[in-house]
Amino acid sequence: MAVSPGRWPALPALADPATEQVLGSGLLPELAYAFGGPFHFLLPDAFDANLRVMQDALAAAGVDGFVYFAKKANKAAVFVERAAAGGAGVDVASAGELREALGHGVRGEHVVVTGPAKDASLLRLAVQHGALIAVDALDELDTLITIALTGRVRPARVLLRCLPPDQLHSRFGMNENELATATDRCVQAGDALRMEGFSFHLSGYALQPRTDLVGRLAERCLKARVQGLEASRISIGGGLPISYTDASSWHSFLAEHHSRYYHAGKTFRTGDFYPYHSPKAGPVALASLLAATPEGSQQSLAEIVKDAGVELLLEPGRALLDQAGATVFSIQGVKDRDGYQLLTVDGTSLSLSEQWFNSEYLPDPRLLPQDTTGPAGTYPASVGAATCLESDMITWRKVGFPRRPRTGDLLVYPNTAGYQMDSNESPFHDLPLPPKVVIDQTDLPRPRWRLDRHFA
Ligand SMILES: *Cc1c(COP(=O)(O)O)cnc(C)c1O
Repeated sequence: MAVSPGRWPALPALADPATEQVLGSGLLPELAYAFGGPFHFLLPDAFDANLRVMQDALAAAGVDGFVYFAKKANKAAVFVERAAAGGAGVDVASAGELREALGHGVRGEHVVVTGPAKDASLLRLAVQHGALIAVDALDELDTLITIALTGRVRPARVLLRCLPPDQLHSRFGMNENELATATDRCVQAGDALRMEGFSFHLSGYALQPRTDLVGRLAERCLKARVQGLEASRISIGGGLPISYTDASSWHSFLAEHHSRYYHAGKTFRTGDFYPYHSPKAGPVALASLLAATPEGSQQSLAEIVKDAGVELLLEPGRALLDQAGATVFSIQGVKDRDGYQLLTVDGTSLSLSEQWFNSEYLPDPRLLPQDTTGPAGTYPASVGAATCLESDMITWRKVGFPRRPRTGDLLVYPNTAGYQMDSNESPFHDLPLPPKVVIDQTDLPRPRWRLDRHFA
């Protein structure tokens, strides 16, 4: 049943020509038939473009910088390959991720190892490969120094991770006293260790706290150099926001959003949603960060790091993956409910991870109907998973589709490469994990595609 009159809340994804090209090519129904289940498609050229504009933003500000792709945001091999080819490194947090980075062409010295309480085997591997290690705690530093002293392979390259002063409840990083102790221990470790600087990763997407912290850490670098340490790098972690929708759609959505627009009257706290629109996103956010003035300073962040001879390191995940892929489900069944439909698709919310953070992936999925002869209108429907869990909904929201969805139609969730695809994936119910299809060139009449890896 179509709803009339009035406007149904919508959150249209920002237009992306490459994605449109794929949607219009006829490839997706063929792939859905071939795989017999949900799949993701990846657009690695978008990753290249995102990386390039970030590197350009650093260059435009005259800042010496280096970008590491935060690997946890997507497990595909192709993004690591593109990072290596594009002169970027990779941020890893496990031996498996380190192996993937090295195995797909990233040089050891272009890897940064983050994550809390890294075990001795990961630390040993990192030292062996000359990777930079963001040390999160004093005991971890001690383990690392022991490894570097006994291994005698090469010095351990270290950043000291700082507990953000405005996020004192974070379980990551070291406080002021710990940082002072860590710095002293680095001095004592002598040639076994190269203390290259400091790092942080803030939750949230606000720019000013990042600016302020860089300002403080630049001072810390200068002090550490007086102690004889190298201290010439600051990593600002990730958290560059991206926009999935335009400002006006996002603000009207937030104003209109109400439990009546959700299956089973489900409620979400607005504050738990990702900010699906940011006035400054991606490279614009980076440029703005570089131009901002840290608290208590007269200079811009760019000038401060230049004057201090500091290289600025970035670890973006989501921002490098903006428009770098989408997720395709097939509708397996349709039920009529009071005033809306309940669709069941052939996959689970483990392949669209936002549900696992008290939240929902809000950009409107696109309906690719098999048959376009039906009447146009607004047909609200929620999207459930093919599992026996009541709560396994891919979209609780009643999305207003422009046609009545039918079994066999495809639903394409846009812009899912950052975190949505695989961070929570599991073969629940023995359902296969959705394959990843790489589309290298979208501008051909028939897009060329291949699997991300030959052996999963
Ligand atoms: C997750 C993470 C990132 C990436 O964050 P994004 O928000 O995807 O940019 C970077 N650095 C560290 C240490 C992380 O844990």
